[in-house]
Amino acid sequence: MPFKWSLNPYRGCVHACHYCYAREMHTYLGLDAEGDFERQIFIKGNIASVLDRELSRPGWRGESVAIGTATDAYQPAEKRFRLTRACIETLGRHGNPFSVVTKSSLIVRDLDLLLAARERADIRIYFTVTTVDPELAERIEPGAFPPAIRLRALDTLASAGITCGVMMAPVMPGINDSQASIDAVARSAADAGASSFWAGPLRLAPPVRNHFYGFLQQEFPELLTWYLKHLDGQHLPRLDQELIAHRAERARSRFGLDESTRRGTPEPAPSPVLQLQQLSFPLSDDPAPIELPLRYDPLSA
Ligand code: SF4
Repeated sequence: MPFKWSLNPYRGCVHACHYCYAREMHTYLGLDAEGDFERQIFIKGNIASVLDRELSRPGWRGESVAIGTATDAYQPAEKRFRLTRACIETLGRHGNPFSVVTKSSLIVRDLDLLLAARERADIRIYFTVTTVDPELAERIEPGAFPPAIRLRALDTLASAGITCGVMMAPVMPGINDSQASIDAVARSAADAGASSFWAGPLRLAPPVRNHFYGFLQQEFPELLTWYLKHLDGQHLPRLDQELIAHRAERARSRFGLDESTRRGTPEPAPSPVLQLQQLSFPLSDDPAPIELPLRYDPLSA
């Protein structure tokens, strides 16, 4: 993990990406990594006040906090509960650096706070884009916004002066690992104003493996045997990992996206006491994408 501290206002995610490693975490709660992960969403109702307390500790060294590492902090629940917004406001008030990873355009709602936070600390926003093909995206990430919506949101933030990057993860052999697929995402990232691009290979924790194989059987039956034969524990074969890294490097230099998004050494995250509230969301609860201007002009807002 390229971060030391992480923060996830929700547990579970209606974006329902079939490859999601966070699915495993629902099994810690006695729930399953499939439908329960996608519909039983836990709300950390007091997260902003816990965060405020943690950031106020005399020993806190102001290190960067990664938001949305095991959930999408801008999934539909955020529209109602505004927990991510409260956390960003808190981090900004403390002048603490942070990053956000998301597949949602809802983050544009918080541009005012992002701009204010940027005045006091280094902030970075990463959009996950695994493909620019909307039909493929619909098959592998059925509850998330289409890639074009994510890239428009990136364009809006980048145009306002926020540092943005694209993470193409996971890259899955036979699905989105060709040089053409990786180039297409990198090119779209550069066009939208991203300043960094990173691509990472699939990792399948045991509880996620069954779900992913079920997905392959349904959507890519011709690939199932390859995955069953070649997956080395949780990981792709080393050769495939190196190939993905090589193709990503080539795409980065082709499209001028040289800044690496990997930094720092992983250490255990803090474990503040949070009050969890469990709610049920039907998959159909997804909101319509919010309307975005093609380019955001902070002066005319
Ligand atoms: S958006 Fe992120 S957290 Fe949500 S299901 Fe997809 S990969 Fe998992």
